[in-house]
Amino acid sequence: MFNLILFGPPGSGKGTQSEKLIAKYGLKHLSTGDLLRSEIASQTPLGVEAKKIMDKGQLVPDEVVIGMISSALDANPNAKGFLFDGFPRTPAQAEALDKLLELKKTSIAVMLALNVSEEELVKRLMKRGETSGRSDDTNENVIRARIIEYRNKTAVVADYYYNFDKVVMVKGEGSVDDIFKSLSAEIDQRI
Ligand code: ADP
Repeated sequence: MFNLILFGPPGSGKGTQSEKLIAKYGLKHLSTGDLLRSEIASQTPLGVEAKKIMDKGQLVPDEVVIGMISSALDANPNAKGFLFDGFPRTPAQAEALDKLLELKKTSIAVMLALNVSEEELVKRLMKRGETSGRSDDTNENVIRARIIEYRNKTAVVADYYYNFDKVVMVKGEGSVDDIFKSLSAEIDQRI
């Protein structure tokens, strides 16, 4: 199995690059943002609660997303590997993920971290808000709140994987194809 984390702030291109990477490498895409949005669309109790938090730009509780990831891992016993997108977002989520993977006798091979300036992030997210239908992309205050949550709670997740020598920084600005080539080159060295 080959498991990778695509890491970076909101708007860094994780969703776009994930789509291309899963097509190329046959990995199963696990995006906690997508899983949450599907709960919202189905108006489940979890979705109703999560939407209130997401619309403020805050992180939903660890136990909620860890539970979703645990179910998704169990639901895909024959996957060649997983691409985690938007997860883990806190050190507690990272520890829980390591334990879940260990139970399945596997682990994270690498964290690819997209590096994008804050100015560019806000620009991209505002633009995405024009078409994405995502309520958290239309308000600049919510966008800034998400970036602050990232800085305060999520950026440290990279340190967790640095300690295991698993982090590779990749330039997240430039053309989609050039960034895809850089990510692919790192994966090809390890897969
Ligand atoms: P982006 O990273 O572009 O903001 P996502 O789709 O990854 O978009 O996440 C949207 C929102 O969903 C986040 O702002 C947060 O409220 C919630 N969310 C997604 N993944 C997690 C997670 N792993 N832990 C906590 N909250 C999450």
